[in-house]
Amino acid sequence: MDFELSEEQKTWKKIVHDYAEKELRPKAREVDEKEEFNWEAVRKGGPVGLLGLNIPEEYGGSNVDSISNSIAMEELGWGCGSTALAFTAHNGLGTAPIAIFGSEELKKKWLPLVATGMNKLGSLALTEPGAGSDIQGGVLTRAVRDGDEWVINGSKMWNTNASIAEYIITLVRTDPKGGSKSLSMILVPTDAKGLTIHPAEKKMGLRGSPTHAVTYEDVRVPMGYLIGPEGRGLQQTLATLDAGRISIGAISVGLARGAMEAAISYAKERKAFNQSIADFQAIQFKIANMDVEIELARTYIYKASWLKDQGRPYSKEAAIAKLYATEMAERVIYDAIQIHGGFGYSREYHVERMYRDARLMTIGEGTSEINRLVISRQVLAG
Ligand SMILES: Cc1cc2nc3c(=O)[nH]c(=O)nc-3n(C[C@H](O)[C@H](O)[C@H](O)COP(=O)(O)OP(=O)(O)OC[C@H]3O[C@@H](n4cnc5c(N)ncnc54)[C@H](O)[C@@H]3O)c2cc1C
Repeated sequence: MDFELSEEQKTWKKIVHDYAEKELRPKAREVDEKEEFNWEAVRKGGPVGLLGLNIPEEYGGSNVDSISNSIAMEELGWGCGSTALAFTAHNGLGTAPIAIFGSEELKKKWLPLVATGMNKLGSLALTEPGAGSDIQGGVLTRAVRDGDEWVINGSKMWNTNASIAEYIITLVRTDPKGGSKSLSMILVPTDAKGLTIHPAEKKMGLRGSPTHAVTYEDVRVPMGYLIGPEGRGLQQTLATLDAGRISIGAISVGLARGAMEAAISYAKERKAFNQSIADFQAIQFKIANMDVEIELARTYIYKASWLKDQGRPYSKEAAIAKLYATEMAERVIYDAIQIHGGFGYSREYHVERMYRDARLMTIGEGTSEINRLVISRQVLAG
């Protein structure tokens, strides 16, 4: 067993940290306040390799290992939750399904386009107004064959990046009879006729990450835009979400770490009863708990990532990593606000935004309840 990052991974951590410190952190509050996407930073992320984390080098990507992906997500989450979410929605959801399951033609046409930062990003639409956790039973968006095209009709909900994407990978029902082989993934360019991307949702947090409802009215795409074999959409989705869960966990670790750092510097400066509040044991214990929880979450995220890198099963470990890290981030940021006292409740202080940003993490890419289901099923099956 080796808990040491490789030299390459340490260098990568520094590169992404420096990028996050320079490009994300300084604008994190502004993008939240103005509900603006930080395009400038994301464009600069292209040459760093942050837009091609899951894209093989032959298609212009950096194709990093899963531990390096987790390292990057933690640093991005530390820098800005909103922009980190856009990065993970692009890499893990918007490009990985093409890189893993797509045809050579799709890879050549779309992956180099979205890896550079010169163009728009990728996105994935699974969720619908009536279906989130229950994708297998609930997805109503239909695709039917017509000659050499698919014709798509339906509605999607909560699509991260839709308005800043070149395409939306869309989970559709291709077999109306239902069952585990009735869903498929189809790439839909965002300029397709009949596709409407609705105005950005007004959200509690992650306000610098655009999220949209999308409707499809007789949208036509070529037959070759099917990703993977017809009827494999559910299995492809579950595999995509396994990896995505590790990334959401890693972003949560980054958010928690940022909040802990803010709490420590505040605690050292703030005086009460003629002493620094960092001298009170009650504050010291909160900080100890934060450190324990962040260390444990990160270590487990690395374990799940390592299993993925070894090509071994990791669904349960990804669910544990996400469940623990996302709920941990809420606890840590809650305490970080507590340490800030009244100022922690003010928009002037970063911890307030971090708290709102972290709230999504126990919901997206599998709620805490669904992750507990994934874990308990495997535990009970022995
Ligand atoms: C900011 C944001 C960004 C998002 N980005 C994307 C995106 O890019 N692409 C995309 O496809 N989706 C995206 N989503 C959607 C997200 O993945 C879903 O919201 C999530 O999967 C939950 O689905 P739901 O909202 O329909 O809740 P539901 O599935 O309706 O669940 C409601 C509640 O019931 C619980 N529940 C449901 N089933 C069970 C069960 N069997 N046992 C116990 N409890 C259960 C849930 O845990 C939850 O507490 C995003 C959501 C948000 C808020």
